[in-house]
Formats: sequence, C-alpha cells, structure tokens
Amino acid sequence: MSTALKPSILIIYTGGTIGMITEPLTRSLVPVDFNEISAQLPELLRFDLNLSTYTFNPVVDSSNITPKFWIELAQVIGREYLNYDGFVILHGTDTMCYTASALSFMLENLNKPVVFTGSQLPIGVLRTDGKENLLTAIEIAAERKNNQPMVPEVCVFFQNKLYRGNRTSKHNAEYFNAFVSENYPPLAEAGISIHYNYGAIHYPVNQKQLKVHTLLNDQVAILKLFPGIRQDFVETFLALPWLKGLVLETFGAGNATTADWFIDLIRAACDRGVIILNVTQCPAGAVNPGKYETSRLLHHAGVINGRDLTTEAAITKLMFLLGQVLYPDIVKEYLNVSISGEITI
Ligand code: ASP
Repeated sequence: MSTALKPSILIIYTGGTIGMITEPLTRSLVPVDFNEISAQLPELLRFDLNLSTYTFNPVVDSSNITPKFWIELAQVIGREYLNYDGFVILHGTDTMCYTASALSFMLENLNKPVVFTGSQLPIGVLRTDGKENLLTAIEIAAERKNNQPMVPEVCVFFQNKLYRGNRTSKHNAEYFNAFVSENYPPLAEAGISIHYNYGAIHYPVNQKQLKVHTLLNDQVAILKLFPGIRQDFVETFLALPWLKGLVLETFGAGNATTADWFIDLIRAACDRGVIILNVTQCPAGAVNPGKYETSRLLHHAGVINGRDLTTEAAITKLMFLLGQVLYPDIVKEYLNVSISGEITI
C-alpha cells in the first residue's frame, strides 16, 4: 500500500516476448504466464519493495492488442491507483508505443509512474534483455524525490533509456534499442546509476484526482502517402461512410502532391466533417505548413497541423478526442494543444 514505508509497485503483465517460449510444434514464440517470468528472475525478491502482479487473461502478443485492451488496462490502473506507488506494464514491443500513447491520454491527472517495458529476447534466453529492462523499470517506478514520484508520467523504458511514452516509436526489430523518441529527450538514462532529466519530466503543479477516460472511437484510419498513390484508392478510402478522423502521413515537413484530384478529395472530406491530421513520415522533425506550396494547399483545404506528433500518438489522440463526443471544432482545438506532452507547441 502507498502508506507503507516500502514503496508498492504493481507489475501488470499483458504478454509480449519477455514472457514467451518456443511452441514445440510450430517453433513460433507464444506467451506464457507470469510464473515463468518470476521463476527466471530471483532478483525480484531482492527489491526492498512490495511487489504485486496482475496478469491479463489471456496474455497476448501485442500485435493482437485492440482499444478494448487499452480500456481494460486503464481500468486496472484506475482501480489500483490508490493502492500502489507506481505501475510497471510488461507489454510486447510491437505495439507498445500505441498503448503507451493511448494511456497517456486516458489517464488524466496522472501523478504516479506508469512504466512500460518488455524485451526483444524472452526472459528464459541466456542473453535476454528482459532482466535489465524489468529490474530497472521497477526501480524507476519506485523512485521518489522529495517524497514525490520521480517520474509521474506514462513512459517507456528500454535498454538504458526512459522515454515519454507518447513520444516513442518502435524503430528496431533486431537490436536491443528497440525504441526512439526523436522529438523529445529521454526522461532518464540508466548507467551505473540512473540519471534523471528533471527538466524534461512533467511534474503536475496541482495534485488532482486521477480521471480514467474509457471512451475511444475507432472510426479512424491512417493514410500513408507514396509517389504514385492512385486516385481511385484515395477516393475509396476517404469515402468510407464511418470515417471520422484520419492521420495523413505526408512527406518531409508535411508535404503532399498538389494534384487537383488529391487536394479536391481532401477538401471534400474536410468539408464533410472528417478531421484530417497531418503528420510527417520522417521519424524526426515536424510538419511546417506553408513552408512549401505542397503543404500550404493541404492546410487551406482544412487539414490540421500535427506538428511533431508520432503516428502512434496521432491516431490514439484522435481515437481519444473523438471518443469524448466533442464538437468537431473542439476536437480541432485539442489537436492544437498538448494534452500530455505529446507535441511541441
Ligand atoms: N511480437 C512481440 C509482441 O509485440 C514482440 C515483442 O514483444 O518484442 O508482443
């Protein structure tokens, strides 16, 4: 309990490589239960902390994760919020950045660490990165400064860096440094000791009660542009009757073809009430509307500037805002502000 002298940490196990074994018949990796993880990690007993675990049923490869799962995860944190000082979420790396981004919007007034981690190699494999990742994530979740949580944010810890969750993207499927946060500095770096980047961590000014938002709207989509994209494809895509929000992945500083058919289709969709958010396909940098003619036209057509949002944060922000059933103009206003540190204003 948070009133005890020892910090209390809840490890929420959702699945992912960290807890996988090779299935003998197919030779594919499949998730197993948390006992397999703790059996490989006697070090967990050496922490001077109260550690508890909560396991999702079933545990999954993160490619199977859906918004329904995010809601369940947010609800578990909401239910247990007052009982723990911090939360460590074990999650597959493939969609970790989407879940971390979604949770950063769903957990309003968060004032405790929610640290996502996982691994590239299962915990039972000799060279696993899972041990370091999990042990350091627990240490970070339990760390306090002036009797306050050191990192009261939704974040991702991997290899030796702690990032703001809604700034991360998975960029490596081979090496242990699976994630990047190109547009925001690490919140901490772990070497012999853990160095916190206090200036980058968000510390709430007022202590407000946690509010868990559980309404998400999945009437959204991502359209990635490429040279030669066909008119009939874009036309069919934008004509989907349920479409309410679209993340448009553009080139460079937010640029797209100026072909009349394209701009006309985008304008028609905006006029119909579809909210189109422009993010760049580049891993680093931001949309800069009007820098080139190729972005000016888009923005005149009604497209919203996504600035330096990652695609993961953009799509989950749209799901979150559209889920709150706000007037489209209000959704647009919120797209232009930072809700939980996801964009640089
Ligand atoms: N496919 C796995 C997952 O995302 C990959 C991993 O955990 O690294 O669940």
